[in-house]
Amino acid sequence: MAQEKGVRVTCSRCGASVFLKYEGTRPREWSSPEEVYEQAPPGWFEYRILHEKRDLCPACSEKWEEMAGAFLRRERIIIDTPREVATA
Ligand SMILES: [Zn+2]
Repeated sequence: MAQEKGVRVTCSRCGASVFLKYEGTRPREWSSPEEVYEQAPPGWFEYRILHEKRDLCPACSEKWEEMAGAFLRRERIIIDTPREVATA
């Protein structure tokens, strides 16, 4: 069975994870091509609290938001920084 390249995003609260497939590269001007990964499914978000960053699954996103409300900055998960490359 062929192994698939991608990154695994893990919920920092409950440990649920989602595998985002590697989709290839996109050319960039003046630098090496950018690696493109599948988008995280709806509901998965990345939160930043001061400098702390966490990925949260849809269920935990809701709970976390109730608790911390306005202090949160919610962002879509975009694989733009090196994460550990996984295979599935
Ligand atoms: Zn979770």
